[in-house]
Amino acid sequence: MPELDLVPRMQARLHTMLGDIEALVRCESPSADLAAVARSAQLVAALGAKRLGAAPDKIVIDGRTHLRWRLGDGPARVLLLAHHDTVWPVGSLSTHPFAIDDGILRGPGCFDMKSGLVLALHAAAEQADGAAVTILVTGDEEIGSPSSRDLIQTEATDCVAALVLEASAPGGAVKTERKGVSLYRVAAAGRAAHAGLEPESGINATVELASQILAVTALADPALGTTVSPTLMSAGNTTNTIPDAGEFAVDVRVRDISEQDRVDAAIRALRPSLPGARLEITGGPNRPPLQASASEELLARAQAVAGMLGLPPLSGAAVGGGSDGNFTAGVGTPTLDGLGAVGDGAHADHEHVVIGELAGRAALVAALVASLADSDTPSPAINSRAAFGTGQP
Ligand SMILES: [Zn+2]
Repeated sequence: MPELDLVPRMQARLHTMLGDIEALVRCESPSADLAAVARSAQLVAALGAKRLGAAPDKIVIDGRTHLRWRLGDGPARVLLLAHHDTVWPVGSLSTHPFAIDDGILRGPGCFDMKSGLVLALHAAAEQADGAAVTILVTGDEEIGSPSSRDLIQTEATDCVAALVLEASAPGGAVKTERKGVSLYRVAAAGRAAHAGLEPESGINATVELASQILAVTALADPALGTTVSPTLMSAGNTTNTIPDAGEFAVDVRVRDISEQDRVDAAIRALRPSLPGARLEITGGPNRPPLQASASEELLARAQAVAGMLGLPPLSGAAVGGGSDGNFTAGVGTPTLDGLGAVGDGAHADHEHVVIGELAGRAALVAALVASLADSDTPSPAINSRAAFGTGQP
């Protein structure tokens, strides 16, 4: 049962939360800059230790720094998932300075997702003693989580729920459905020849790629939400030579795993169309889809909690982009994503956070964690209306 004074308690924390967000935004942390990410992790660890009274485990994998707090030992463990890397290169602060103006907070990574990370720390700090909460803060989400994927899956496996503090969808909606992502590189090898003297003795890699691009494009199924998009492409060396090599990239987005499998099998089954040409296909599924069914019960629970706390009605949204929530859902853990800051402009010049929403959001997360950590069944949200005594999901 959420404690009804959580909103004023989080209001009282707002000044501290803003200070924490400012400190994190001023510590730039692009995923590819391992030293910058390590510095940022040190700051997250220090802030978290202050708020939680406990130091995290520092987990370095392939040079990338992740942090984990395992708090409490209650029967139902809840995972709070955040990342501290951003897409903004070091130096972005000079063109996009940290600023607070007219109720709006700006700065690189403030919305995606340093504010959400701070919300997680403060929400966890409000839990009763013994509440079982794992906070995982990874350092490579923005490049597809190459080093943290296993860690995320392992931590999620033991949890009754994964709450992902990624930025919210427009209007503060939580993200209940994310498409799965697969990435491929299709390379063709042919044979070079002079385009004027003896083109017929060459094997044209550009022509080979052209037919493969059409074949790949035909794998899309708009009715099922499956998109298959050839993106980057290159071939050949000079304008008067039959190209002997070339390649293109393919971006695949799917709503369900059977579509991911279908497209994967079809791309791997591509065969050369020109006699003598060869194909090399690399890549594959990167993130499984986060299907609406993985979020359904948690969404109902969050809506009930929001009602109890007197917060505005909470809605859910389906989005195309993937996140680490795709991984937690992929191992079967109920997952609710987009619980982080309200604002707009992730990865964009107008990235910002609405300050007036921070306390309510922190209260929502804190109450959701409390209600889940209290329960001792894996699917507690079935009775969420009864449990919270409200008919207003
Ligand atoms: Zn993010």
